Amino acid sequence: MPTKFIVVLGSIMSGLGKGVVSSSIMKILDMYNFKVLPIKFDGYLNYDCGTMNPYRHGEVFVLDDKGEVDMDFGTYERFLNKNLTSSSSITGGKLFGSIIEKERKGEYLGEDVQVIPHLTNEIQEKVKDFAIKNKLDFVVIEVGGTVGDIENGYFIEAMRQLSLKEEVIFVDVTYVPRLKTVGEQKSKPTQSAFRALMGMGIMPNFLICRTDGEMSEGIKKKLAMFTSLDENRVINDPDMDSPYQLPQYLIDQNFDKILLNSLKLPNKKINKQKFAKWSRDVGKITSKDGKNITVAVVGKYVELKDSYVSVKEALMHAAGKLSINLNIKWIESELLEKSDPSVVLKGIKGLVVPGGFGKRGIEGMITAIKYARENKIPYLGLCLGMQLMAVEFARNVCGLKGANSTEFDPKTKYNIIDILPSQVSIKQKGGTMRLGAWDMVIKNKDSIAFSSYNKKVVSERHRHRYEFNNKFGKTLENSGLKVTATTTDNKLVEIIEWPIGFGVATQAHPELKSRIESPAPLFLSFLSASKDIS
Ligand code: GLN
Repeated sequence: MPTKFIVVLGSIMSGLGKGVVSSSIMKILDMYNFKVLPIKFDGYLNYDCGTMNPYRHGEVFVLDDKGEVDMDFGTYERFLNKNLTSSSSITGGKLFGSIIEKERKGEYLGEDVQVIPHLTNEIQEKVKDFAIKNKLDFVVIEVGGTVGDIENGYFIEAMRQLSLKEEVIFVDVTYVPRLKTVGEQKSKPTQSAFRALMGMGIMPNFLICRTDGEMSEGIKKKLAMFTSLDENRVINDPDMDSPYQLPQYLIDQNFDKILLNSLKLPNKKINKQKFAKWSRDVGKITSKDGKNITVAVVGKYVELKDSYVSVKEALMHAAGKLSINLNIKWIESELLEKSDPSVVLKGIKGLVVPGGFGKRGIEGMITAIKYARENKIPYLGLCLGMQLMAVEFARNVCGLKGANSTEFDPKTKYNIIDILPSQVSIKQKGGTMRLGAWDMVIKNKDSIAFSSYNKKVVSERHRHRYEFNNKFGKTLENSGLKVTATTTDNKLVEIIEWPIGFGVATQAHPELKSRIESPAPLFLSFLSASKDIS
């Protein structure tokens, strides 16, 4: 079957969950046993989002192949349960870079290089190459940003051109607000958005409407009339307990059947086993029946929840599997620099310190880790959280006063964490950290690491410039800290554990590989320990 393309656009404003819609469509197609992968367009001129601020842009997601990509990739992978590659990510920066490179080589000799046709052709070629290389039935293309932005205009135009040659379905994710004072849902913003899209030569095949609560029949009819769509192509996408519920919700509205009929694939049947398995797993995550447990995440970007979305999802996956009704308390680490930890952390049954960069808030995290260690509260440290677990242990158990990472105190006498030797000469910032999937070896069977993974060699994703300084290995180990996993060449520490109580931390980011079908092993062990002390 020739590849078909589904283009997901967003109207009116950002933050409507285009990533969840794209992922849900992919999940549905996957349940029909189609071979489907995503492409994400991002209009920014950065080559990738590795150099962006998580406070502004949300989490930087890392792929096995070292790609630093938009957080939507986390959603795609969690829904599809597949490891994606950087070839799915097309940014303005990458595109302009390759156009200029071609121009300098003389590939456009004699021509004036323009957005149309050169840039729009480049986009279409990339998309088609991707489909051919991966032998895909479907490519779901999410266009970042909002219709009408200058940044993504050329992507949308490229998709219009693609639709002249290939089978393309346009899905517009839009917003149907409810005016509190009158309690009524309003169609006008979507009407205007539709006109904007038509002005770009695109007639959407589906409208997916974000709402608080379902749309009334009246508003659905009105939207259908104004957009010349069948009413059953105007789809509800109300706020839900969990994003994983959306595939089921779309299926309940016959989105799958209408889509496949319009692509002349009416005889395809959903794989009932895949569907049942997904529904069961989602049911577990959304169930409120389990044991109530509160864990704290003490981070430095907590005000923007998107900064830690993979950590949150990994916790939810593990909680679902363990029948825990999890409450996550998000704590800004700077707060612990001014307040009593026993007040701020009161009642928690677990502590997570996630990844992060820069000095702000570090002492608050160390205070939280000390509190967890002394009060035997289970602890899980992720990347920075591992580095600070080592620093806290050095300071408060080994008595190395002022121990630190040279990232935060370049002059510290006890540089427990120091720059990776391979990083010392690197000047360029983009894409130069220790990135992507790396194997680690678990050293002894009698460890949290081994009981979590149940195997000796495991692979996790990384994103860091600093590491545990082996010079202090013996000192910390003599005081009880356990190094339970290292890189395969034994040079870098990958997992450390407390001697007493449950405390485990890794230089990796296991949250990035957690899936609803296979929760991250360290998260499962961590929440099991929290459950045990509850
Ligand atoms: N800032 C630390 C480093 O670069 C930790 C990075 C992280 O948490 N991802 O090593």
